[in-house]
Amino acid sequence: MDLQKTDVVVIGAGTVGSMALWQLSRREGLDVVGIEQYGRVHSHGSYAGESRVFRTAVHEGGTYVRMIQRSRDLWRQLERESGRDIYAEVGCLSIAPEGFPDLETAIGTVREFGIPHRLLSTEELRKEYPQHRINDGDVALLDEHGGGLRPEVAVMSALDLAEANGARLFFNTPVLDIEERPNGVVVRTTQGAWLADTAVVASGSWSTRLSPELNDLLRLQVLGLTWFMPRDPAAFAPERFPAFLRDVGSVHFFGAPSFDGYAFKACTNPEWPVYRDPADVPASHTREELIKIGQRAAELFEGVNPEPVRQSVHHCAYTPDRLPVVDRSASGRVVTIAGLSGHGFKFSPQLGEWAAQLVAGEGTTADPRFALPERMRALAELGPYTGGGH
Ligand SMILES: Cc1cc2nc3c(=O)[nH]c(=O)nc-3n(C[C@H](O)[C@H](O)[C@H](O)COP(=O)(O)OP(=O)(O)OC[C@H]3O[C@@H](n4cnc5c(N)ncnc54)[C@H](O)[C@@H]3O)c2cc1C
Repeated sequence: MDLQKTDVVVIGAGTVGSMALWQLSRREGLDVVGIEQYGRVHSHGSYAGESRVFRTAVHEGGTYVRMIQRSRDLWRQLERESGRDIYAEVGCLSIAPEGFPDLETAIGTVREFGIPHRLLSTEELRKEYPQHRINDGDVALLDEHGGGLRPEVAVMSALDLAEANGARLFFNTPVLDIEERPNGVVVRTTQGAWLADTAVVASGSWSTRLSPELNDLLRLQVLGLTWFMPRDPAAFAPERFPAFLRDVGSVHFFGAPSFDGYAFKACTNPEWPVYRDPADVPASHTREELIKIGQRAAELFEGVNPEPVRQSVHHCAYTPDRLPVVDRSASGRVVTIAGLSGHGFKFSPQLGEWAAQLVAGEGTTADPRFALPERMRALAELGPYTGGGH
């Protein structure tokens, strides 16, 4: 088989792949190829679904704050370079009963890192955000740097910029396998094969198909999305209704303002089984699940029709502790970024920048725990896979 030669092949032109392609294409003299199994910006990836919550006040504590702050700068840069609206900085409200552990962690994080924020009492919440039906004892943190990202627009923009910078992108071209050789990495596709100095594996939920060494580490979690029509859509417009996370009893809701002018996103997830391969993930919610989610939405939001006007079901590759994999193989020829664990869209520009630095053999600011050998060492000690997102 004839091998076409290039410096670097990025496998997967989704969230991480598009950001890596954008960053790699900015490097002088580097020949960059991107290969995607579906078309340009499709509905099968973990980025699909109109919006993603962006927040700097992460419940998970400080591990992610610097990645997110760097990503915020890069989101702005992507907007400037593409001329498109990607990051709606409308704030992110975390609403929960006073003392709720995740909320306390987020409040600790904003204080530690000096993140602009407001704390709202029950009364303030009821007055300022009447779209939410607030229970007695509920309080909130407003992360002023939080908001909503537009994932499809972001991926399209990064790919367009990469191409404008000279990257060659191939769509509808599944990669079949990769093989490290002393003189490079062979990337075999349905349309021929490439010999690259380095391959970046950014294939999301499909990563274990190409990198079986990730088999024990990654599991697919299902994440469903639902949109509801309020009687007063203007009240749910981005200027008036921030992105939100809401904890009520054991129910966790998350969502975003109305970007389409008639419906807003409000989602909670049933107990889905854990899967290994995207082919096994259900294509839709069941009718019973949708009725239940709709009833809860109508309880939590003012004037909302309980029938979801849109719904979709997606998947994302998780690690047991939700830390991502950011790794360069011992030979230096394979860079792997995987396991974004339901919350990685917001910091994907930082992951793309790290991918480009790892390809160039440069150091990164990545937490050493993200490297694959560390991830595998930690695996043995980690508990069961936990769900959740954003
Ligand atoms: C419903 C849902 C809600 C979420 N909400 C949030 C949120 O609010 N905030 C947040 O920060 N994060 C959120 N996340 C997480 C975030 O969206 C994902 O972690 C992120 O999009 C994963 O990016 P990825 O690059 O790993 O995968 P993807 O974006 O899916 O990209 C992988 C790409 O690789 C391609 N590919 C795979 N195998 C091959 C192959 N063999 N050959 C060629 N191409 C291949 C795929 O087609 C795909 O395009 C959410 C995730 C989901 C599913």
